[in-house]
Amino acid sequence: MEVSSIGIDRSVSAVFPPEQLRDALTDAVEVAVIDAGNDPLEPYDAVVTMAYHESYLEGVHWIHSIQAGVDRFPVDELRKHGVTLTNSSGIHGPAVGETVIGYMLSFARRLLPAVKSQTHREWSPPAWDDAYTLANERCCIVGLGTLGRGIVERTSALGLNVVGVRRSGEPLDEVRTVYPPDDLHTAIRDSKFVVLAVPLVDETHHLMSTKEFAAMRDDAILINVARGPVVDQEALGDALEAEALGGAALDVFEAEPLPEESPLWEFEEVLITPHCAGFTEDYYRNVAGLVRENLVNIDTGEEFVNRIV
Ligand code: NAD
Repeated sequence: MEVSSIGIDRSVSAVFPPEQLRDALTDAVEVAVIDAGNDPLEPYDAVVTMAYHESYLEGVHWIHSIQAGVDRFPVDELRKHGVTLTNSSGIHGPAVGETVIGYMLSFARRLLPAVKSQTHREWSPPAWDDAYTLANERCCIVGLGTLGRGIVERTSALGLNVVGVRRSGEPLDEVRTVYPPDDLHTAIRDSKFVVLAVPLVDETHHLMSTKEFAAMRDDAILINVARGPVVDQEALGDALEAEALGGAALDVFEAEPLPEESPLWEFEEVLITPHCAGFTEDYYRNVAGLVRENLVNIDTGEEFVNRIV
């Protein structure tokens, strides 16, 4: 494969200005910002993008996704057309890890109700036994890839008792017990926090639904930084309504943006962020690093890093 020109699709502007990435790559390759939904792809050998456009099937040799999840991309079609797909797995651990710690502290130290009260100019201290500390609370991290490990590092540094769920079930440093996916209910049963960090694939679609919420503690907090459809959102609403769960911090949703009429906006113990858990001012630099690494690998004939197809 030869890559002498790269188009940066405007869709990346949901996460950073495309011009920043263009400027970070100009010394390595011919690069321009494009609108792949409308512009012809012909002069470009590759695209860096967030969105998928049908024209990629005929127009480019290589697509680099600025996200870790590739659920937007038709991997079988790409394979059939001989288009290489790489993703940005490996760059989100610190940002998402810190966001998850922020969520946990918001619940434990009662910052969530304090912020809500502040918007009404209300001086409203929590009940004496409402606040708690994170140390020694049990936290179950489902998915121990880049995100999961970023969360493990930070939760264990704060003294949480960390367990996890991993496809292989093999042990991992700082995780007291690693369960295979078949033991999900045992893993989540006694956890104050259940954090979802798995990719969205057939086996993780609605991984968390009525039975899983029933298996969780009724004061447990569900944290979803994976993908919306990993959680059965209607079942989550029912569990919160029935006070069968303590609360939730949600960055991702079955429909994004979360529709105004969603009942999730209304719950006191729900913290909503608009799919930005991985945001950082370094995002475009981290993506540029991966693209550069693969440009070198193409030149030297080595395998792509983060190759999906
Ligand atoms: P990764 O590929 O490094 O890790 C995913 C891990 O999940 C792998 O270790 C895999 O073996 C494991 N896994 C897959 N199916 C599983 C199952 N059924 N049970 C347990 N583990 C399973 O990917 P990552 O960078 O950690 O990202 C994970 C997902 O998080 C992405 O696919 C993406 O959808 C999402 N994500 C969200 C944000 C955000 O801003 N909210 C940012 C980055 C990634």
